[in-house]
Amino acid sequence: MIVFKKISALQRHLSFLSSNNMSIGFAPTMGALHEGHMSLMSASKASCDITVCSIFVNPTQFNEQSDLDKYPVTTQSDLNMLLQIGVDVIFLPGVQEIYPDGDDYEMPYDLGKLAEILEGEKRPGHFEGVVQVVDRLIDIVQPTILFMGQKDFQQFSIIQRMLDINDKPTKLHVCPIVREQDGLAMSSRNVRLSEQDRMDALSLSSALRYIKENYKVTPWKTLISNATQMLNKPNIKVEYLTIADGRTLQPLESILPDSYAVALVAAWVGEVRLLDNIILTNK
Ligand code: AMP
Repeated sequence: MIVFKKISALQRHLSFLSSNNMSIGFAPTMGALHEGHMSLMSASKASCDITVCSIFVNPTQFNEQSDLDKYPVTTQSDLNMLLQIGVDVIFLPGVQEIYPDGDDYEMPYDLGKLAEILEGEKRPGHFEGVVQVVDRLIDIVQPTILFMGQKDFQQFSIIQRMLDINDKPTKLHVCPIVREQDGLAMSSRNVRLSEQDRMDALSLSSALRYIKENYKVTPWKTLISNATQMLNKPNIKVEYLTIADGRTLQPLESILPDSYAVALVAAWVGEVRLLDNIILTNK
C-alpha cells in the first residue's frame, strides 16, 4: 500500500500503471471508514487491477461549518483498515492540494431538478461541493471505474449525470448499503449518536422496511402516514420521507409494474443528521 499526499507523485505512479494496461478502481471517501466503505474497496478489488482510495474531508460540501468541525477524523485506523483489505493506493491530500487557487466554484453542469430537491433543497450548496470535488478527483486519478454507495442515493445519481454530461470514459459502479446487524445504515456520523439516539435511529431503517414490505398491499396515504408515525419520536426531526422515481427522484404517487421506485429518508436524530433509503422496485 502506498500513501500519496501530492497529486504529482500520485499521477506519476498511476500513469505508469495505466500505461501497462492496468484498470484503476477508485473510491473517494471522507475517512472515518467503516464496513460500508470497505464494501466499495472489495468491489473495486474484485473487478479492477488497482484500487485507489482517497480520504479527503471536502470543506466545500458542508453547508454548516459546525458539521465540518465535528466530522470524525480517524486517519490511523482508516489506514489500518485499508492496509488490511489490500487497497493499493491511498490519496491523502490537504485542502491546498485539491484547491490550490481557492475553493470558489461555479458549477459547469446543468443537473436540473435532480440537484434541487431533497438534499439539494435541505443542504444548499452541498451538491455543488460534491460535484466540485468528485470532478477534481476524477481528473486527478482518471479511474476506469468509480465506486460509490447506494447509501447516498441522490449523490450517486448526480455523479452519474455529471459523467453522462461530461462524456467521461469513467464508469460508475454503485454498491448496496451495508447495515449494522439491527438494520441501521452504516455511516461515519453514527459514532456521534448517543445511546438513546442510537436506539431511536433504528426507526429510519424500520420505516423504510415497513414501506418495502407493505407498498403492494397498503393504500398509499396509509403507507406514508404509518411510516411517518414510526418516526414520530421526540428525538427525531424528519426532513423528508418520500417514495420517488429512482431516476429523477421526483415523488411518486403510485408504483406501476415497470417503475423504478426508491423510498428515501433524511432525519435529525438528536444532533446527528442521518440518511437512508431502500429500493422498492427496479424492473
Ligand atoms: P463518505 O466517506 O461518507 O463520503 O462516503 C464515501 C462513499 O462510501 C460514498 O460513495 C458513500 O455512499 C459510501 N458509503 C457510505 N456509507 C455506506 C454504507 N453504509 N454502505 C455502502 N456504501 C457506503
